[in-house]
Amino acid sequence: MEQTKPAPGLYIHVPFCVSKCGYCDFYSITDTGLVEAYLKALIKEIGSYREEFIGFDTVYLGGGTPSLLNAGRIGTILEEVHRTFRIAAGAEITIEANPADLGKDEMAVLRSLGVNRINIGVQSFDDKELAFLGRRHDCRSAAASLEAAHDAGFANIGLDLIYGLPGQAFNAWQTSLEKGLSFHPDHLSCYELDLKVGTPLGRKYEQGMLEPRTDESQHEFFMKTSGIIEDAGYIHYEISNFARGIEKASRHNRKYWDHTPYLGLGPSAHSFKGTRRWWNHESLPDYLRDLKEGRRPVAASEDLGTEDLAVEALFLGLRMKKGIDLDRYRSLYGIDLVKEKGPRLSEWVRAGLIEIDAHTIRPTRSGMAVADTLALL
Ligand code: SF4
Repeated sequence: MEQTKPAPGLYIHVPFCVSKCGYCDFYSITDTGLVEAYLKALIKEIGSYREEFIGFDTVYLGGGTPSLLNAGRIGTILEEVHRTFRIAAGAEITIEANPADLGKDEMAVLRSLGVNRINIGVQSFDDKELAFLGRRHDCRSAAASLEAAHDAGFANIGLDLIYGLPGQAFNAWQTSLEKGLSFHPDHLSCYELDLKVGTPLGRKYEQGMLEPRTDESQHEFFMKTSGIIEDAGYIHYEISNFARGIEKASRHNRKYWDHTPYLGLGPSAHSFKGTRRWWNHESLPDYLRDLKEGRRPVAASEDLGTEDLAVEALFLGLRMKKGIDLDRYRSLYGIDLVKEKGPRLSEWVRAGLIEIDAHTIRPTRSGMAVADTLALL
């Protein structure tokens, strides 16, 4: 049976933050003096893809901190997107928001602009942890922001949390998590803190000022977290992501995980179409310069061969509960996974890391906990 191709997704990177969080390595700057120049350049960049991308069924405003832009500016961006591309009826239109930025009224304006999904970066319900992470809100404003999103009529509210802080006891994390669950978010992302090189917390770690977590502790946090959230009625559909029903899983992010094309606009944004991936300058001045001179602000690109795509599909597929569709995998990459990797797969089934039936390989919860190992299949 012929499958209809899923529509591409559109990502827009807003590269401004009020301050930088200690763990963050996303591209953003704290000088908002270039907001107007950015908007002008973004409008040009949108127009430059008019011929290459016809339409989208998801739009995602991420960053950085898109909620820093006022509603008028967000409206300008969305209007231009609608003017240039065909946006499907019922498209998922998401904005990432910092709890410190938006009250009920601002959120209601976003709703009226067609934004139908809001993802709030709460990260913790413990003020000391928020201070450690360098967040600029406290847990009171996080709670207020979630309530405001409900009151503004959002029917699809996501909440991001971070766990595994140095020295954090599981009970402390569980308290934060349960507070988050008490708001009944439609979607929950729980990321393990990664002390990335080049970030303030990463530097502290390199200087020996932060204790690394043991593998056992990481495993314990992952397994218990998944258990608590699934017991609360959510589907653990991707390593770090949970949804209250599969229809509440992020339609946009799932495109990244199954090689659906996506267009990324704004500094540092990545795009993918067919076998080509390209990405923009991770520098607002370079981004502005290229668009001013009439060029797309692309820093570099790569062409992926069938083998590269097959390896990626394996890596990404084993991070998702739905796993890998064996027939699709064979028809796309010419590889019969069961035939070629039979002994290893049997070993993993025995170890309780995956489940296999005639059509699918799926990671179990224990398998998701070691997904990086599974990707070495
Ligand atoms: S608000 Fe988000 S994008 Fe900005 S520094 Fe913090 S984590 Fe990074």
